[in-house]
Amino acid sequence: MDRLIGRYTQGKKGPVLLCIGGIHGNEPAGIEALELILKMLEVEPITNPDFEFRGTLVALRGNVGALEQDARFLDRDLNRIWQDTDQVNDREASERAQLKNCIEAYIESGEEVVLLDLHTTTATGGIFTFPMDALGRMLAVQLGAPVILGVTGHLLGTCAAYFQEKHDNVTSLVFEGGQHLEEASTNRMIAAIVSALRAIGCVEARHIEHQHDHILTRYSEGLPAVSSIVYRHPIVIGDGFVMNPGYQNFDAIEQGEVVARAASGPIKAPLSGLILMPHYQEQGTDGFFIIQQEEESDDESFVHSTQQLKME
Ligand SMILES: [Zn+2]
Repeated sequence: MDRLIGRYTQGKKGPVLLCIGGIHGNEPAGIEALELILKMLEVEPITNPDFEFRGTLVALRGNVGALEQDARFLDRDLNRIWQDTDQVNDREASERAQLKNCIEAYIESGEEVVLLDLHTTTATGGIFTFPMDALGRMLAVQLGAPVILGVTGHLLGTCAAYFQEKHDNVTSLVFEGGQHLEEASTNRMIAAIVSALRAIGCVEARHIEHQHDHILTRYSEGLPAVSSIVYRHPIVIGDGFVMNPGYQNFDAIEQGEVVARAASGPIKAPLSGLILMPHYQEQGTDGFFIIQQEEESDDESFVHSTQQLKME
């Protein structure tokens, strides 16, 4: 399995949209979406001779070794080990080194780089984005999916945050496209990538079929536009953590509600809010997150705005 899924450019100067699929090896939807979108871009100029593309789309596989085994990771979670101080030598350290080389080659070109990290969740119900800064937030809003703020304060060592913090010309965004094996997750990923290409000015809005917009806005109906993470429950290896069944992303929970169990007893929600990413898989150390809705802001006007966020 190659690290590079593919790349598309017409040789015109412009931003780089660098997409990563499968940084968790049990999340193939991002890779399927990237393969499909590269095929769509190749044939677009045949059916639409006016089609113009500025900059470059780059599609990378995240954890190649774990993807080959359909596991979230082999030795350690590749999306939690991006600290410069990390000295462990294992299979994910080698994945990280290879991925870093591929990504840095584009960052060093000096163009504006948007790093879009594509994920899916074990629970159903809802798609969402995690921006890392103000520009990422503007971009996230344009995708039309709920925006979740504050991820960097609760998750350490993510790939997206690493490149965002290190390089001035990088804006990172994480997109969660739905449940791991839901067929619709791939369509939502395609919609998010197309919206991102438009938002950063790689393609013009007139060349884009509006069905892509509707896929995400329709699925996000009734969900809060902008929320912040207020709590993360960490799983300690061997603590016997089991999530109570039936929770979906964005389900309302009350303070004191028993949401999971561990060997030490029931685990209660320390705060009221909405539950995000309840843990229904074997690997990983995030039990669940609690988010709370932000006050209404100007963000929502962006969603329906045709204004482009051009990065030149
Ligand atoms: Zn993931």
